[in-house]
Amino acid sequence: MDTLKVLKHMFIETPGSDLSRSDKILYSPFLVQMVVTRRCNLACAYCNEFDRDSEPVPYELLTMRIDKAFDLGALAVEFTGGEPLLHPRIHDLVSHATARGIPYRMLITNAYLLNEEIVKRLNQAGLSKMQISVDTVKPNDSSAKALEVLQNKLEMLAWHAKFIVTLSAVIGVAPADETLEVLECAEKLGFLPRAILMHGHDGGIRAGNSDFEVLGKLRKVLGATYSEAGNYRERLLLEGRAPFKCRAGARYIYVDEHGDAMRCSQRSIDWKKNFLELSIEDLRQNFKTSKTCSNQCSIGCARTCSSWDEWRFQQKVQETIIESART
Ligand code: SF4
Ligand code: SF4
Repeated sequence: MDTLKVLKHMFIETPGSDLSRSDKILYSPFLVQMVVTRRCNLACAYCNEFDRDSEPVPYELLTMRIDKAFDLGALAVEFTGGEPLLHPRIHDLVSHATARGIPYRMLITNAYLLNEEIVKRLNQAGLSKMQISVDTVKPNDSSAKALEVLQNKLEMLAWHAKFIVTLSAVIGVAPADETLEVLECAEKLGFLPRAILMHGHDGGIRAGNSDFEVLGKLRKVLGATYSEAGNYRERLLLEGRAPFKCRAGARYIYVDEHGDAMRCSQRSIDWKKNFLELSIEDLRQNFKTSKTCSNQCSIGCARTCSSWDEWRFQQKVQETIIESART
């Protein structure tokens, strides 16, 4: 990341935005994830974030949402889906975010649609980072995101991409040794290896007991990133809970295909608001509100974005009440 650009973005007031410099430093999003189409070319058994037939979100609406993310002081925008490469103007969206001045432009993909031409166009558009999750070595009933199927595409990507590529293995979808093989492949290709936990439809962890055995080996492959965000993976797998101060709805925001901002993809019931109408008051409120789902949360992006502010105050709400009611 261009550190100078980031500092300028954080410390200089944005013309037309109602956020002051201190508002930005205290509450602005580190990451806005934006759905560009709900449609996906795959159908992973554990996923509740796709359909088969949605139209892509109109380009003009998405550019308005990118502009809003900039006005809110977002450091990064990540295009997601469904499968974002199914959006016919995905390169233009990345270009727009680059031209608008968003410091970090990211994309999550299952890699099936990647080819050399697409990679080169994303290079030109100014993509900063691509995140690919590979679940298994061989396709299984849960997932077709398999190393065997994607190997050639990944090698092509390693050769042509000018952006950073993160290759994530999802703990809980395949046997532990397959998870490790995916991470070792990431290292060989010069990608950043990352491990994420499979989550249930409430944002909580959904990995089984057999996943314990992967932890020791993961520590070796992932190095310093193993313990990111307060070592939550190990705590969740070993202790079943890893409390943290979730800052979703402020430091991390999820924007669905309808333009609704939510705290994360799994918690639309808690809070939702038109992203274009989001104000500094909404950011403050979400930042300060503790989330009843935070003990078992396995949403890695929200945890990482929240980790910087762990030392800052958060109101205790329901959890305290529930705990005292039980005693
Ligand atoms: S590729 Fe991604 S969006 Fe598509 S079904 Fe699988 S997990 Fe869901
Ligand atoms: S703790 Fe935050 S990120 Fe995790 S499920 Fe709840 S609202 Fe979502």
